[in-house]
Amino acid sequence: MGDSQGFLKYSRGDKRKQAVEERVHHFDEFVDAWEEPQYTKEAARCMDCGVPFCHNGCPLGNKIPDFNDAVYRGEWKEAFHILKSTNNFPEFTGRICPAPCEASCVLALHSDAVNIEHIEKEIAQRAFLEGWEKPVKSVDPTGKKVAVVGSGPAGLAAAEELFKKGHSVTVFERDEAAGGLLRFGIPDFKLNKEVVARRVSLMEKAGIHFRCGVEIGKDMTSEDLEATFDVIVLCTGSSVPRALPIPGKELDGIHFAMDYLTHQNRLISGVQAKVENRYHAGGKQVVVLGGGDTGADCVGTANRQKAAEVTQIELMERPPEQRITSNPWPEWPMTLTHSSSHEEGVERDWALLTKAFIGEGGKLTGIQTVRIEWKNTSTFEFAEIPNTEKIIPCDMALVAIGFIHPEHKGPVNQWKLALDDRGNIKTTGFQTSNPKVFAAGDCRRGQSLVVWAIQEGRQVAKAVEKYLEPVCVG
Ligand SMILES: Cc1cc2nc3c(=O)[nH]c(=O)nc-3n(C[C@H](O)[C@H](O)[C@H](O)COP(=O)(O)OP(=O)(O)OC[C@H]3O[C@@H](n4cnc5c(N)ncnc54)[C@H](O)[C@@H]3O)c2cc1C
Repeated sequence: MGDSQGFLKYSRGDKRKQAVEERVHHFDEFVDAWEEPQYTKEAARCMDCGVPFCHNGCPLGNKIPDFNDAVYRGEWKEAFHILKSTNNFPEFTGRICPAPCEASCVLALHSDAVNIEHIEKEIAQRAFLEGWEKPVKSVDPTGKKVAVVGSGPAGLAAAEELFKKGHSVTVFERDEAAGGLLRFGIPDFKLNKEVVARRVSLMEKAGIHFRCGVEIGKDMTSEDLEATFDVIVLCTGSSVPRALPIPGKELDGIHFAMDYLTHQNRLISGVQAKVENRYHAGGKQVVVLGGGDTGADCVGTANRQKAAEVTQIELMERPPEQRITSNPWPEWPMTLTHSSSHEEGVERDWALLTKAFIGEGGKLTGIQTVRIEWKNTSTFEFAEIPNTEKIIPCDMALVAIGFIHPEHKGPVNQWKLALDDRGNIKTTGFQTSNPKVFAAGDCRRGQSLVVWAIQEGRQVAKAVEKYLEPVCVG
């Protein structure tokens, strides 16, 4: 460690965010870099803690103390190589990872964790600026052909890792551009789409083939794919949204969060030429159902679209501000989160059950709710509190209550792949019930995080490698 006393001398540096009044007028990213000395200080806060729990907290096993030490010494290129050794896309995780590494940072036991994510973002930024990020190189060609279906973070990581091993890799994506939820789900103010395009372009330069606008199961059958490729890796995400089967669900003004967010992302990229009023919150009273991150993205988007009022409601009870004893460090803290979108203006409420959508003339005018008391969250038992029914007036409702499993139409049904009890693709060591077909990311583990998708992409590549190995070597 560069400065063994650093954690005593310096307090955690906050991200430099543009003021709320400025940033709600645009969809660009709004977190600025620090000056160099602030990075040195932040890296110096990384203690010589002996057992760095952050390694374990990070699904990728990022060697955090090592890159912090290099940053402290001003050796940014070295820091980049350390970070890249475990993470294919630090420019994504440095921007949008909820940073489980920070939750398990030893400093977080009694103080504020090292701002690892902000350091990671800067390492990635410099790597592109300085030209250290280069198209990956592959070993000698193996002659094997691999198809990756889906170009989200899992598909991209799998494609890159398999390409490095000398296989010819083609990524099939049904959308018009690659990136999955990085491209069409996550708003631009969290992740600028040029950052995604830059990565895809680097992968194309390396020699990885991308075929966008091709839906497997529709434009090309699973059978054809199997006949053309030695191995298929499904990274199709978890995109079937959880619905609210309550009275009034057919009213005009109710949308799934992804339809709403995707519309705005496509508007910004120019693919969607003009605003569709039904997906625009301008001047509307908006209620976001679901208190998670997707809900927060809807809040941030609605405020940028100049909604008249934004309310976010959640079925679960309000989480505590601090860890409770049954949720100790270094576990992920089940505490209240305040995302940057919440700073921008929203009314939040918890323990509210949505009973019905109310409307007039086929149009949504309100949401009927009742307050509940939780009896047991693990068995999902709660009781309605009498006389707490109320109607929240609104003309737009965004349903952001999660995704249940991957789509079954298409490859899953065509190959009759086995599913687990939650409807995700069942695998043994990433291999599905069809030995030639592997799966990774949200379609396998269920709705998760970008960092987990990258980790799964790396792991499935190892499994595919093992499957192909005897044939390659022999
Ligand atoms: C609104 C939103 C915000 C989020 N914000 C964050 C965040 O801030 N931080 C974070 O860590 N995680 C976030 N997540 C979660 C994260 O985006 C996902 O966990 C991650 O993208 C999953 O990666 P994946 O590669 O498994 O799937 P996806 O990113 O979903 O990609 C799957 C791809 O497969 C394609 N596809 C599907 N079927 C076919 C087919 N038959 N043929 C061809 N292509 C197909 C889809 O079009 C899609 O592009 C967010 C999720 C949402 C919905």
